[in-house]
Amino acid sequence: MRHTDPIPDEAIAWVERLHTVVDDLVAPVVAAHGPRLRCRSGCTSCCADGLSVFILEAALITRHFPELLADGVAGVEGACAFLDDDGACRVYASRPYVCRTQGLPLRWLEHDAAGEPGEVRSICPLNDEGDPPIEELAAEACWTVGPFEERLRGRQALLDGGTGERVALRSLFGSSRTHLPIVR
Ligand code: SF4
Repeated sequence: MRHTDPIPDEAIAWVERLHTVVDDLVAPVVAAHGPRLRCRSGCTSCCADGLSVFILEAALITRHFPELLADGVAGVEGACAFLDDDGACRVYASRPYVCRTQGLPLRWLEHDAAGEPGEVRSICPLNDEGDPPIEELAAEACWTVGPFEERLRGRQALLDGGTGERVALRSLFGSSRTHLPIVR
């Protein structure tokens, strides 16, 4: 797959289904944590600049927001280019997978210098206060980073042969669906 190739409709639809599954799985985790999670409209702590996504997720945004990308202006540098002046996401319905899980207690596996796997956990500092501390949460109470990224990578591999090419969100402004700038 070259980055100038069109993205098949079926692949776009697959990404939308994946996002729906993620939302369905995130909802009970959010509900279980109640007031601990202070995520709300207008909080932009997770909306960092420099985010990149797989081509498939970039294509979803370009599919649904062509006018914004062609005629809109990217937000100021230092935060995500898709934030508006009120701190709202301008592509919320098609926001990438990672945006759908931010704020949750996150867990993933890393290997130490000896090659031994170990669990790492993290949470937005604004959501860190609470009992129990995130280190003591059951694994099911956290979002496990990795499986959905692998699904995205795997689906994209059917198109790009496994190169895992990604696209910077900011670079989508001024781009077209068939000319996605690639991060290597
Ligand atoms: S795409 Fe939307 S939700 Fe995701 S980082 Fe940007 S502004 Fe925030």
